[in-house]
Amino acid sequence: MHLRHIAASELEKHPAYDRHEEVLRVEDPQVGLSAFIALHDTTLGPALGGCRVWRYASEAEALTDALRLSRGMTYKNALAGLNLGGGKAVIALQPGTAPSPALFRSFGAAIEELSGRYVTAEDVGTSPRDMASVAQSTAHVRGTPGSGVEDPSPFTALGVFHGILAAVEHRFGARDLEGLTASVQGLGHVGWRLAEKLARSGARLIVSDLDEARVERARAEWDAMVEHPARAHAARAEIFVPCALGAGLNRTTIPQISADIVAGAANNQLETREDAIRLTEKSILYAPDYAINAGGVIALALAGTRRASTGATEKVEAIGATLAAIFARASREGRTTAEIADQLAEERLTAARRRSQAA
Ligand code: NAD
Repeated sequence: MHLRHIAASELEKHPAYDRHEEVLRVEDPQVGLSAFIALHDTTLGPALGGCRVWRYASEAEALTDALRLSRGMTYKNALAGLNLGGGKAVIALQPGTAPSPALFRSFGAAIEELSGRYVTAEDVGTSPRDMASVAQSTAHVRGTPGSGVEDPSPFTALGVFHGILAAVEHRFGARDLEGLTASVQGLGHVGWRLAEKLARSGARLIVSDLDEARVERARAEWDAMVEHPARAHAARAEIFVPCALGAGLNRTTIPQISADIVAGAANNQLETREDAIRLTEKSILYAPDYAINAGGVIALALAGTRRASTGATEKVEAIGATLAAIFARASREGRTTAEIADQLAEERLTAARRRSQAA
C-alpha cells in the first residue's frame, strides 16, 4: 500500500478545494485499491466521515467527490454539536474489479498511518462487513458488526422526525401532526421508519417509491395514499419528506411544490444554492438536509463510548432544537435556512479556533 500527500499547491486551483488540511492518494494495485482520503478540518476533533465506494468516470471525479464530501462533513459534524472534524474517503473501483476484504484491509492500513486524524465508517457502496475488514488493520473505524450502529438509519429517522416536529411547530404554532399530510418520497431504510413514526403520530401519509412492493405494504399498513415517484414533491400535503435521492429541489420541482414544509433525510436536496432562495420566496420552510439528517453520524460518533446508548438518543433528539434555532434566526434575519445552518456551523468552528489560539 502506498500513501502520498497531495500538496496544497497541486490542489489550489481545484474548484472543490477549500484549504483542506490534508489530502491523500492511496494506492495498492495488488488488491485493486485506488482511493483518496480528504481531511477538511480537524479544529473540533478527528475527522469523521464515511468511506464511499463508487465507479468513477475518472480520477479527477473521485478527487472532487472526496474534497466536496469531506467539507460537507465538517459542517455536518460541527452543527450536530460533535467534537469531530470533517473527512471522507472515496475508493474508486477499477474496471472489472470488485471490492474484496483484502482491499478494505489495505485501506485500513492507510487509515492507521494517519494515527487517528481520520476515522472512517460505512457509506454508499460499503457495509458493516467491509468495515470489519478495515478494522483488521486499524481501530479508527466505526459501524463494524456488533458495534450497535451497523445500521445508523433508525437514528437518522429519529432525527428527521424531531426535525419535522420543529418545522411543524415553527410553521403552524404547535408540535402536532394530527390531521397533517406528509408526502414521503422513498421508503428505504430511513423513509420506512420515518413513515411509521409519522403515521403513529397521527399524520396522514402519501407514499412513493420505485419499489412497488414497498408502496403496497405501506398502503396496507398505514392506509397510505400512493403517488407516482416523480410527483411526490407535488402531492397535496403540508409536508414533503424527501428520503430518496439528492437534487430533488430545483428550478423545475420547486414551483410545483404545494407543501408548506420540506424536511427529509435525502442528502444534497438542493440542486443549487439558488434553490434555497426559490423555496424561501415561495414561503416554503426548508429544513437544511445536513442538519436534519445528522442522526446517523451522531450515533456513529458516540458508538463504543460511555455515552453510546443514552447520549446518542438525546443528541439525536436535539436535532429538533437545532432546527428550531435555524428557523427562528432565518425568519428574524430574512435569510434562507440553508445560509443560517452554514453560518451556525462556521460560528462554532471560529469560536473553537479562537479558543485553541488563545490556549
Ligand atoms: P435506501 O437506499 O435504503 O432507500 C432509498 C429508497 O428510495 C429505496 O426504497 C428506493 O427504491 C427509493 N427510491 C429511489 N429513487 C426514488 C425515486 N425517484 N422516487 C421514490 N423513491 C425512490 O436509502 P436510505 O438509507 O433510506 O437513505 C435515504 C436517503 O437519506 C439517501 O439520500 C441517503 O443518502 C440519505 N441519508 C441516509 C442516512 C442513513 O442513515 N441511512 C443518513 C443520512 C442521509
